[in-house]
Amino acid sequence: MVEYGIMAIQSITQKKNIIILGAGFGGSACARTLEDIRRAHPTSFQDFNIVLIDKKNYYLYTPALYEIATTAADDATPLALKRAVGIPLEDIVAHTSIKFVQGNVTHVDLTSKNISLEDGTTIPYEYLVYAIGSEPTYFGIPGVKEHAISLKWLEDAIRIRAEVKRKYDTKLSGEKLTVVIGGAGPAGIEVAAELVGYIAKLNQKTRKTILYSPTIIDGGARVLPGFDDFTVKKATARLISLGVTIKCGFVITRADEKAVYTKSAPPAPSTAATPPQEHVPVEEVLPYDLFIWGGGVQASSIPSGDCLAKEKRGRIETNQCLTCAATGENLEITKNAFAIGDVACFIDGKTKRAMPGTAQVAVAEAKAVAYNIHQSIEGKPQAPFVPKSSYLFVIPVGGKYAIAKIGPLRFSGFSGWVFAQLVELYYFYSVTRNPAIIRRWWRDIKIFTRND
Ligand SMILES: Cc1cc2nc3c(=O)[nH]c(=O)nc-3n(C[C@H](O)[C@H](O)[C@H](O)COP(=O)(O)OP(=O)(O)OC[C@H]3O[C@@H](n4cnc5c(N)ncnc54)[C@H](O)[C@@H]3O)c2cc1C
Repeated sequence: MVEYGIMAIQSITQKKNIIILGAGFGGSACARTLEDIRRAHPTSFQDFNIVLIDKKNYYLYTPALYEIATTAADDATPLALKRAVGIPLEDIVAHTSIKFVQGNVTHVDLTSKNISLEDGTTIPYEYLVYAIGSEPTYFGIPGVKEHAISLKWLEDAIRIRAEVKRKYDTKLSGEKLTVVIGGAGPAGIEVAAELVGYIAKLNQKTRKTILYSPTIIDGGARVLPGFDDFTVKKATARLISLGVTIKCGFVITRADEKAVYTKSAPPAPSTAATPPQEHVPVEEVLPYDLFIWGGGVQASSIPSGDCLAKEKRGRIETNQCLTCAATGENLEITKNAFAIGDVACFIDGKTKRAMPGTAQVAVAEAKAVAYNIHQSIEGKPQAPFVPKSSYLFVIPVGGKYAIAKIGPLRFSGFSGWVFAQLVELYYFYSVTRNPAIIRRWWRDIKIFTRND
């Protein structure tokens, strides 16, 4: 049954609704920014409700999921772990006019401007923001979905931690615990590196000597596809120093309950004048105790008729103001519908490429949409979203070590790790605006650093 934790559904039918679907990075930031604008311009919003809808009742801080999957703290119950990376949406909407509805959105009717929840409730909207994020994709590789644990949701991270411990307990001193990780993006790297500390901590506690043997596999030529040379070199060196085997240039062809089957990928086409060489694929079987999948995501989807234009990865195409693009002749049908974050495909005019799926991009797009909704309410022209030339990032690579970039500054090691903690505090504070969050953030640091 769907619960309406914080509000009575009747109260949102009395005014026009600005409905934000999804309370992750993008959705929560959009709701908070609208609330800020409402406070500055109360009369503009007097006929509107700001309604935030999510199937979960908490906001998930995904960048710290790898910590959940690998913490050795004995007192880290699933509830304590949830508290460490999940902020109750009740806390986010407290002392604001934002109305939170917990429910699984199953349909959007763009013609009648209604959204439907799983229990059959329909809610009308005047403005709609798709912020439903993404979900793991397995690229149709046989056996991966069935045998790997992905690292996308809180439940995945808790399961990885439990499975590592369960497999660890079956091993005798001197034996190996073999973990295969599909995907050398940030999530795969973070968890591979941090597991080193987790196993070391377990060895210390049990006085066993279990050898941890992780392998990261990726079809690309190097780790962290899409990242700059500095980051890739630092991450590679750090992973190797931690004992992680990197198998880049290998694609996973299938998996079963015991092993992952790989094949060498053909080399990228050469730009040099030399003729392309024939590629003879090398096959390799990698037995595993645990198979973790961080290989990729695709846009989440809510059936919305066939009026929304989507690209091949399922993302909703938008115009420069982040309004959803429509298919067919009735272009007005998506006039007040926006898409942000992982579910959106916004093409950066400068690079001619779609914006990457990161938290920073989701938040930046969310702020632009909140501004445009206000402009539209006031009958003023909307402004195009102008992405920054680069967004900050932090990639933790085991223990108190991270690689970070902010503007032209790049740093790695302990300073990168400190920066990662500050970024986390910033996000927690920006969605709650409650100084009490500092105590909670500090408590989480104390839990998570017990491996280091
Ligand atoms: C392990 C991991 C680590 C990451 N680390 C980083 C990092 O360090 N830095 C970074 O910038 N990015 C990172 N990312 C990427 C980042 O999490 C995403 O880009 C970001 O969450 C996108 O924000 P969003 O608002 O589009 O979607 P999300 O934050 O995923 O929010 C989507 C919300 O929609 C809700 N929802 C979906 N479908 C429905 C439905 N039908 N009905 C109701 N609610 C629904 C979901 O419950 C969810 O709360 C990481 C991702 C993962 C998985």
